[in-house]
Amino acid sequence: MSRVALRKALADLPPYVPGARAPVGAAAYKLSSNENPFPPLPSVVAAIADAAVDVNRYPDMYATELGEAIAASLGVTPDSIVTGCGSVAALGHVLTAVCEAGDEVVLPWRSFEAYPIAVSLAGAEGVRVPVGADGRLDLEAMAEAVTPRTKVVLVCTPNNPTGPAVHADELARFLAAVPSDVLVVLDEAYVEFVRDERAADGLAVFAEHPNVVLLRTFSKAYGLAGLRVGYAVARPRLAAGIRAASTPFGVSHVAQLAALASLRARDELLRRVDSVVAERARLLTALRAQGWTVPDSQANFVWLPLGEQASSFAERCARAGVLVRPFAGDGVRVSVGEPEATDLFLEVSSEVTRR
Ligand code: PMP
Repeated sequence: MSRVALRKALADLPPYVPGARAPVGAAAYKLSSNENPFPPLPSVVAAIADAAVDVNRYPDMYATELGEAIAASLGVTPDSIVTGCGSVAALGHVLTAVCEAGDEVVLPWRSFEAYPIAVSLAGAEGVRVPVGADGRLDLEAMAEAVTPRTKVVLVCTPNNPTGPAVHADELARFLAAVPSDVLVVLDEAYVEFVRDERAADGLAVFAEHPNVVLLRTFSKAYGLAGLRVGYAVARPRLAAGIRAASTPFGVSHVAQLAALASLRARDELLRRVDSVVAERARLLTALRAQGWTVPDSQANFVWLPLGEQASSFAERCARAGVLVRPFAGDGVRVSVGEPEATDLFLEVSSEVTRR
């Protein structure tokens, strides 16, 4: 047994539970990780194959060409983009770049389970502000939770796992209330799925507020979860700091070229997003018709607040061939996937007591 002491922060670290995988050989739909149900486009597979022949070389350390393409697609300058091995890594780099030991980071809860982990690993203290019963972030309470020790506020919009997006008017009030030396991170991992007209426009907010950083990803709408590419959008001075805190060569050459090919195929990929959004509407409508109370979803998943029944419900789904994500004692998150998967899921949901 090793006598080497681990960092104290690790002792209290909550687990990051990956979405269930189907047992080998078993027929099951995986609706547990908010993935894109579509396979990569042929043009993206071709870019991956082309990139493979160069993997004896290191990648472009700062993913220059990809950063330029992302910047052009968003209408920001290339020095505002910092890519990372998934937006979860980009979040870690943002926190490492700004947090000193003991700083506070205000975050919604329940929200993305990686937040408390990333905050602790950055040496900071997480301050959790409960999400409302309607699944919406309580931005007023989050602003009130800001103290002189607060360095960062994490705003997840749409919120994983509950679904609603933050509205423009509430975000404007929140930003007016928060001191301008507090960094506000808008995690927009699911932004392409948002159809709520009241939802905040992250890019417009970013343009107005120098203390706002956006996090985005190629894992969801762009279907590249397995290649791990995400990015932060920040003012150039902040972006330089985040870059300095990043893992060197954090985005592989294969991932860089696949993300570039995906950006080129953006229109086609966004049409797929439209079909996921339509399937989301079908799922929400059917659940409500079955008598369920479910929050609005602006992402590619739906939240069922099942309380103590969460785990048994997820087991029941698994037996029916659908893997969903339980949060014990709280609820179940089901990703929007293949229509056949929705049908199977709705069969299970019709058989249990509604809430
Ligand atoms: N933010 C949110 C809100 C998420 O739900 C996820 C993925 N589950 C991520 C960030 C991270 O995505 P990735 O690291 O694949 O870019």
